[in-house]
Amino acid sequence: MTLEGARERRVRTGGVELCVAELGDRARPTVVLVHGYPDSKEVWSEVAARLAERFHVVLYDVRGHGASTAPRPLRGGFTLEKLTDDFLAVVDAVSPDRPVHLVGHDWGSVQSWEFVTVARTQGRIASFTSMSGPSLDHFGHWIKRRVRRPTPRRVGQLLGQGAKSWYVYLLHTPVLPELAWRGPLGRQWPKILRRVEKVPAGDYPTPSLPTDAAHGAWLYRDNVRARLSRPRPDAYAHAPVQLITPLGDGFLSERLYDDLEEWAPQLVRRTLPDKHWIPRTRPDQLASWITDFVHANEDGVPVRDTIASGRYADRFGGQLVLVTGAGSGIGRATALAFAEAGARVVAVDRDAEGAARTAEMSRLIGSPEAWAETVDVSDEQAMEKLAERVAGEYGVVDVLVNNAGIGLSGSFFDTTPEDWKKVLDVNLWGVIHGCRLFGRQMAERGQGGHIVNTASAAAYLPSKALPAYSTSKAAVLMLSECLRAELAGKGIGVSAICPGFVNTNITSTAHFAGVDASEEKRRQKKSARLYGLRNYPPEKVADAILRAVVRNQAVVPVTPEARGGRLMSRLAPRALRAIARLEPPL
Ligand code: NAD
Repeated sequence: MTLEGARERRVRTGGVELCVAELGDRARPTVVLVHGYPDSKEVWSEVAARLAERFHVVLYDVRGHGASTAPRPLRGGFTLEKLTDDFLAVVDAVSPDRPVHLVGHDWGSVQSWEFVTVARTQGRIASFTSMSGPSLDHFGHWIKRRVRRPTPRRVGQLLGQGAKSWYVYLLHTPVLPELAWRGPLGRQWPKILRRVEKVPAGDYPTPSLPTDAAHGAWLYRDNVRARLSRPRPDAYAHAPVQLITPLGDGFLSERLYDDLEEWAPQLVRRTLPDKHWIPRTRPDQLASWITDFVHANEDGVPVRDTIASGRYADRFGGQLVLVTGAGSGIGRATALAFAEAGARVVAVDRDAEGAARTAEMSRLIGSPEAWAETVDVSDEQAMEKLAERVAGEYGVVDVLVNNAGIGLSGSFFDTTPEDWKKVLDVNLWGVIHGCRLFGRQMAERGQGGHIVNTASAAAYLPSKALPAYSTSKAAVLMLSECLRAELAGKGIGVSAICPGFVNTNITSTAHFAGVDASEEKRRQKKSARLYGLRNYPPEKVADAILRAVVRNQAVVPVTPEARGGRLMSRLAPRALRAIARLEPPL
């Protein structure tokens, strides 16, 4: 099917014949992809195609799955020991002289944990990337610890995972799973994957699914009970491990991996806001993380030294983040916070020098790559060109931060149509252009993403002083809410940030309508002084932005006054209206 250009061969081992496919140049480092349950090697087709540009990629159908033959009898034919024999036979055939980089999903990961923790594979594995499949030994110890010392939290964790494991109990019943898979469940499975897991339609799963699933039930029956009740005490990984945890996994709790550093001392953690079948839903992200991890290990440098360790590095490492208004204030702090988390950063600003400086600082503090782009966000054509250039040169943006904005103060009658146009062009249209152009690319790629729009507390706090600015920000807030509803089904989150008074340059560049130039200067200085006294740092807003993406928050008021104002706008709007009538302090 979809493993285009693959060279297939058959490897005989332990009474079965395994179907092994190879892609890419054999002289390059070898990456072995092991599939899970109920799957065949084709689950990796999208990831494999991306990796094959750089690596020698090897996939094989696990015994009893896809085009590999099944052991006879089935019972006892799927033990982890036999699966390890198979792995070694494949590695002997495809990379006899050089250790391989192992990648496993679901049961492919469960068995790969065995490979990477038993003595007889020492020296054959250069690295292991695990997703959605724990070591049964680690799992066994995890349960034992919680049963032996049951605090309420630990009992909660046990019950939580117990509930998620319902299918494991079912798979232990005789015959029924086989009947279900060869009957209605097998027929419905593609639809279930599409609806529940949001797996894109296409030629996956393959027609071998009912047989794969029926045979694969023995993976559970041959191993789970035995290992969970008697976990090996020495299941330590002898290669560096990258753990990718999809946070919305319906089958595995994140907590299962809490003690993992103990078993895998060279551990790098990654998280994704997605469900279980990430090889189908997030191939770009997986290929990029696998590539970085393989390169880091091939270079022989301790992996921890080459992979960012910032607070949110597990989530944003290697992602492409574009920030507008990145030349100063909140935009710069946000770009730098993403850089610290190991993201690749595109710093956009109409101020070329400011953008260039942000890009340079980003590289210095941990961004593997950072670029500056000089663009006026209110210029539709310039934004279109930017979107084309970014997609062509750097890829589809994972996180977009529409932050560029300008200040405008003055009563409604002092605000001229030109003033209105200017503030709406930048503060609202700039955001619209960003969402339209980059949001569409995200949606078309179909692998999720996040959009952050910088609104303001002025979006929900009426005042006599800021009618135009507040209107522009209220529009940004509502646009964000509408877009959030529209993009939710595509796995794209949208957050509106409402900072409050933050100490940045915005006060000294804000336009004050209805006053002459010297009065405007005086007011700019005075407001800069007031914001300076308040002294809320833009770095804290940046932190709130990264957190908003991680938690997929809808509306985020940041400073205490922004939070208090938000609460009042809901509970006591009349009081806010009364406050709005007061004379502004400037
Ligand atoms: P800032 O002036 O320090 O930074 C804004 C950046 O945006 C500057 O580098 C500027 O060159 C850039 N910019 C302005 N217009 C642009 C355009 N048309 N195209 C491209 N870049 C442009 O201000 P800041 O406080 O960091 O503001 C960032 C965002 O936060 C703005 O949207 C602002 O409205 C919002 N905000 C700020 C505060 C605050 O108190 N500072 C409060 C609420 C909301």
